[in-house]
Amino acid sequence: MILRARTVITNTGTPIENGAVAVAKNRFVAAGGFDEIRAMHTGEVIDLGEQVLMPGLVNAHCHLDYTMMRRAINPQRSFTEWILRINALKRSLDNDDYRAAIAKGFAELKQWGTTTVANIESFPELLPDMTPPPIRTWWFFEMIDVRHRLAGEETIAGTLSFFDQRPDWIGGFGLSPHAPYTASGKLYELTADASEQLAMPVTTHVAESREEWEMFRHGRGELHDFMEKLGRWMFDNQERRTPLAHIAAHARLGPRWLLAHMNELDEPDFALLAAMPQPPSVVHCPGSHRYFRHSPFPLKRLREIGVNVCLGTDSLASTLTLSMFDEMRILARQEPQLDPSEILKMATLNGAKALGIEAGKIAPGSLADLIALPHADNAREVHAAVIENREPVAWMMLDGKILSQ
Ligand SMILES: [Zn+2]
Repeated sequence: MILRARTVITNTGTPIENGAVAVAKNRFVAAGGFDEIRAMHTGEVIDLGEQVLMPGLVNAHCHLDYTMMRRAINPQRSFTEWILRINALKRSLDNDDYRAAIAKGFAELKQWGTTTVANIESFPELLPDMTPPPIRTWWFFEMIDVRHRLAGEETIAGTLSFFDQRPDWIGGFGLSPHAPYTASGKLYELTADASEQLAMPVTTHVAESREEWEMFRHGRGELHDFMEKLGRWMFDNQERRTPLAHIAAHARLGPRWLLAHMNELDEPDFALLAAMPQPPSVVHCPGSHRYFRHSPFPLKRLREIGVNVCLGTDSLASTLTLSMFDEMRILARQEPQLDPSEILKMATLNGAKALGIEAGKIAPGSLADLIALPHADNAREVHAAVIENREPVAWMMLDGKILSQ
């Protein structure tokens, strides 16, 4: 199949005017000028007209379970207050609510051009009855062992039973110890071992809030007191390591890890990342970051030391939409010096890289996930125009198949 559009953004070179893409089965074969592609490849030609054709968006951090929580929690005085509010809300919901939330979340992701999502699943027991996901989905099994710190092996064993064969599901499975304040060092250790043995990605929330920093570095503060009251064993960090150093002391971090947030880092943390031959990826969630009024995200430093930084929405309990266009716009406002083409890569290519898949770009052999957007005629620069898109995405290709919206 050959797809033609006014402009093609490949993420591997400059945008192609009057461009075309050749697709065979679920992979790209070639991209280039329309005449050149038509001369070299056979198959049906679909002309998308005055549109921009580009890789589908990759949301590298999402919690579809909480899609019904839009505007349900006003920004709180503290991060700990927010945890109390979401926990109370969760207690008022049942499995049918979560099933409905996941379906609604998928619809919203698709509407806004997301073709791949990394979804952290807090209720994996819902999965056996679920129909195959409508977009490429990585299900990360969330693990928490606050009160049962010796049950790590059982937690992992239970988790692995969740990865029963589901051949018609596109995407994959991963592990997600929730955060260093809710997952024990032992759980991180077992997760790292399982990830290596099974070549499985891992995601975790790290160094998100000032309260988390205070708990780890100073052994005090609101989150510290709350976790202590919950029964967490509080003597696991006598060295007063930072949240990142604490995880790194238990687990060998590498390219299979997606560290979400990473707002609170000190110089030794940057040195620790810089010294890793293959550092983990970092996921920034601009809307959620703004909601919580976290410390500035150290994007420039992380990029300078070669960390792959990608974008996610987080859940609707701390942001307003599941649109990656909104996330790109918030980031563009926060970081006006950042080139729009880089922002677009953070929302596509970098997320795919973090998940270890050949996607997020139009290159021979990579997965054929595409979206088309109306071409803005007055746009000086096509990447900036894409970031400004405010229309639902009307055309999408997923795994080589055109989806009707
Ligand atoms: Zn999260």
